[in-house]
Amino acid sequence: MTADNSAHVVPSWAAHEIGETIISPDQVSSRVRELGADITRDYADNPPLLVGVLKGAMVFMSDLIRAIELPVDVDFMAVSSYGASTKSSGVVRIVKDLDAELSNRHVLIVEDVVDTGLTLNYLRKYLGARKPLSLEVCALLFKEEIQRVEQDIRYIGFSIPADFVVGYGLDVNERYRNLGGVYKFTGEA
Ligand code: 5GP
Repeated sequence: MTADNSAHVVPSWAAHEIGETIISPDQVSSRVRELGADITRDYADNPPLLVGVLKGAMVFMSDLIRAIELPVDVDFMAVSSYGASTKSSGVVRIVKDLDAELSNRHVLIVEDVVDTGLTLNYLRKYLGARKPLSLEVCALLFKEEIQRVEQDIRYIGFSIPADFVVGYGLDVNERYRNLGGVYKFTGEA
């Protein structure tokens, strides 16, 4: 699905660094409901363990789990791939590991955005080594036209252009995570 631009107005406190609306709050919530329905259908017999990737996926995760009508379990990992910059370093560091065991579990990784795919590629190998019954990915955003190492993503919320974006959990230096939609960032990182 491709994001379409809507006439949603950017909040005034953020407007000086925020450009066009990539995905409005209404578009996000209706797509998250659809993703929840898809996951409910696909995992009806095998409720998954959802693994959220902190911090960016926290807002998406909290809405997504309430759109899934199954007894899902939830855990989080924290990885760092960008530091404070807006360019991928290619270096992935685990800041917080999982608490849950993965053997005999169907695992669904919940990511905010797949850019180069380096983070996802690393996480797949890392979690796959713990021998889950299955390992799939649900990404809210997927950047088009970017050289990536990982393309096998079962659930994608929106395909978006390669611009740096903020909002709905995504930040710049910890700011703008609380915007309800996804917006192009136009400030200095
Ligand atoms: P990748 O490894 O796919 O290049 O990057 C994945 C991670 O980089 C994401 O989980 C996210 O934390 C960060 N990232 C990638 N693109 C963006 C973006 O447009 N905005 C923000 N705020 N973070 C991004």
